[in-house]
Amino acid sequence: MKKYSTKDFERDFPNDDACLEWLFNSRYPQGVTCPKCGKVTKHYRIHGRPCYSCEVCGSHVYPMAGTIFEDTKFDHLKLWFKAVAYMSVTRCGISSRQLSRDIGVTVKTGYRMWKQIRSVLHEDATLAGTVEVDETYIGGKAANMHASKRAKLSGRGTVGKIPVFGIVERGGKVIAKTVPNTDGLILIPEIEKHVEAGTTVYTDEMGAYKYLKEHGYNHEIVTHSAGVYVNGDAHTNSIEGFWSQLKRSINGTYHHVTPEHLQEYVDEYSFRYSHRNDEEPMFKTMLSQVVKHSS
Ligand SMILES: [Zn+2]
Repeated sequence: MKKYSTKDFERDFPNDDACLEWLFNSRYPQGVTCPKCGKVTKHYRIHGRPCYSCEVCGSHVYPMAGTIFEDTKFDHLKLWFKAVAYMSVTRCGISSRQLSRDIGVTVKTGYRMWKQIRSVLHEDATLAGTVEVDETYIGGKAANMHASKRAKLSGRGTVGKIPVFGIVERGGKVIAKTVPNTDGLILIPEIEKHVEAGTTVYTDEMGAYKYLKEHGYNHEIVTHSAGVYVNGDAHTNSIEGFWSQLKRSINGTYHHVTPEHLQEYVDEYSFRYSHRNDEEPMFKTMLSQVVKHSS
């Protein structure tokens, strides 16, 4: 992945106008179809305002509208881009407090920006080739007595821990989700949703996966209990590596994650992992997500 330095940032985004221009060009690569004129028309920037105007009829287009920058003052736009840049530099992400310090805003403002930026860091990929599927449990302390009692009674999961299900394409992207339990009824539909039929799927010997063949997959079982961990291609090293990185990241950056926020953390980490081998710098990938998630 190419590095993107502070110097690169200042060259590409010297001011709020440059950020708006980037947003305009990225959201309308084929030009703006003017709603009044009913066709693509030339638009020019209205000086001092965050909008562009149709050359023919004068209708206005606001590139920040419908994005996470919608409720932001125009003269804060570069600050937001800077926040994205800071969030893109580390592999594990940063806390909202760290972000506040980095860009010099209050904890409250930093938290809002951090939360908004994070909300676009997820994607629904389709995986193929060779994939590995696995489950893990995340979270230490019991979140609430009720949930842990229920877990104990049902015999599902570890008390106070949340089951997380993951699918990784070897050398490619990952999909990871918190799940209510690890029954086949929950996991198989997730696999069907995210993995192309006919794909070779490596799993451990857990019963939930036993019907994968019937669902059109080439199912290979890795027998951990027999003490055989790596036997040629028959392993789940990629997903296990992902789990340990994810857990390290959560412990290192956030120390503790509440169950209701776990999926957001998992999404952000998965997104970073999925784009770890991209040519494009992570900053540009994250900025593109803002455009992808605009309405
Ligand atoms: Zn027009």
